[in-house]
This record gives sequence, structure tokens and C-alpha cells, in this order.
Amino acid sequence: MTLRVAVVGSGPAGSSAAETLAKAGIETFLFERKLDNAKPCGGAIPLCMVSEFDLPPEIIDRQVRKMKMISPSNIEVNIGQTLKQDEYIGMCRREVLDGFLRDRAAKLGATLINGTVHTLEIPVNRNQPYTLHYADHSDGSVEGIAKTLQVDMVIGADGANSRVAKAIDAGDYNYAIAFQERIRLPEHKWHITKS
Ligand SMILES: Cc1cc2nc3c(=O)[nH]c(=O)nc-3n(C[C@H](O)[C@H](O)[C@H](O)COP(=O)(O)OP(=O)(O)OC[C@H]3O[C@@H](n4cnc5c(N)ncnc54)[C@H](O)[C@@H]3O)c2cc1C
Repeated sequence: MTLRVAVVGSGPAGSSAAETLAKAGIETFLFERKLDNAKPCGGAIPLCMVSEFDLPPEIIDRQVRKMKMISPSNIEVNIGQTLKQDEYIGMCRREVLDGFLRDRAAKLGATLINGTVHTLEIPVNRNQPYTLHYADHSDGSVEGIAKTLQVDMVIGADGANSRVAKAIDAGDYNYAIAFQERIRLPEHKWHITKS
């Protein structure tokens, strides 16, 4: 039987996860409560994201080379001083970026559901499915129509106040950690497989 996975939330994290799952032939359901969501966000993305996420040029609204960030306590930071000649900080509009990543996941086979997940029922044993209770907004209403979906796995990508995290009792966090790490192995440690 094909593995069924529900991804709750179609921000960059959820849509990227759904894209990867769909490409792997997994039956993927991508939930988004608000398809035209313009998330409050600075919209700055690192240049490496363009190639890593295979973004077309039109996703970049502006190419910025100098930026000043001022904190509420008036501390100023100048950004862009270390940029090389051909480098820039990409500025994008979140409704455009998120919409692009979400639509690409759907084109690759993920089933996009315009719905708000309200409750997640956790199975009592490993052979049972997870049950998601959600309001389906595909009729255009805010209230939506109450529906359920059963899946084998759930990915919570529903942002800072994640209902999935609450449902699995992931605990409270006073802070979030985000990191990106790039490593380059010395050439003698490369193991190249030719197919
Ligand atoms: C003011 C501000 C400025 C920022 N500026 C920058 C910046 O300049 N550059 C940068 O890289 N990052 C910035 N960030 C951080 C960036 O916004 C987050 O790191 C990023 O959005 C996290 O992506 P995500 O996919 O994990 O979650 P999100 O983008 O939060 O996506 C979660 C999605 O889940 C959906 N959702 C939530 N609950 C449900 C539910 N129950 N059912 C269905 N769908 C649901 C939401 O509608 C949303 O679309 C900023 C954040 C803030 C608050």
C-alpha cells in the first residue's frame, strides 16, 4: 500500500516537504488554510536559496545590495558590505514565493487541500492511521465544511503556533533555533558513485 502523508501548512517548509514526498511517489496531502496568505515577513532570502530551491528569476522582486537594519533600541546594522560584485540579497513577496512553491508541489503530484486542520487524532498503535479533522474551504467559505482524512504520517509545518505540535504535546518553546550548515569535504574523502 502506498504511504499516505499529510503536510499541515504550505509555507516554504511544508511545500518543500510536500514536493520531496510527491517526487518520491508518496501519496501526499498538503493542507493550507489561506491560499492567498501574505505572511508578515521581511521577504529577504539568501542568494543560495535561488539555486537550492530552483527558483525562477521572477520570484525575486528586487535585488538589494545595501540594507540597514535598525532594532527597537536603535542599534543599527549595515548589511551587504561583504557582497561580491555579482551577489545580492533577494527580496521576495511571500504570497508569491509561497504560492510558487505550493503550486509546484501540487504539479508534482501533491494533493492541495484548502483547509484548516483543527484536530489531530493520534493512533493508539502503530497499525492505525492518524485522523485529521479539518474545515474544507474549497466552497469559498471561512467556516468551511467539516471533513476528515486518514494518513500514515503527519508533518507539522503549520508555523509558530502549530496545532500539530500541540497535538503531539511537543512542549512549549520560548525560542526557536534555525540553522544552515554547509560543509565541503576534502577531495580525498569524496566517494563518487558512477551509475
Ligand atoms: C516579521 C517577520 C519578518 C521576517 N522576515 C524574514 C526575512 O526577511 N527573511 C527570512 O528568511 N525569514 C523571515 N522571517 C521568518 C520567516 O517568515 C519564517 O522562518 C518562515 O515563514 C517559516 O516558514 P514555515 O514554512 O516553517 O512556516 P510559515 O511560513 O509560518 O507557514 C505556515 C503555514 O501554515 C499555515 N497553517 C497554519 N496553521 C494551519 C492549520 N491549522 N491548517 C492549515 N494550514 C495552517 C499558515 O497559513 C502558513 O501558510 C520573518 C518572520 C517574521 C515574523
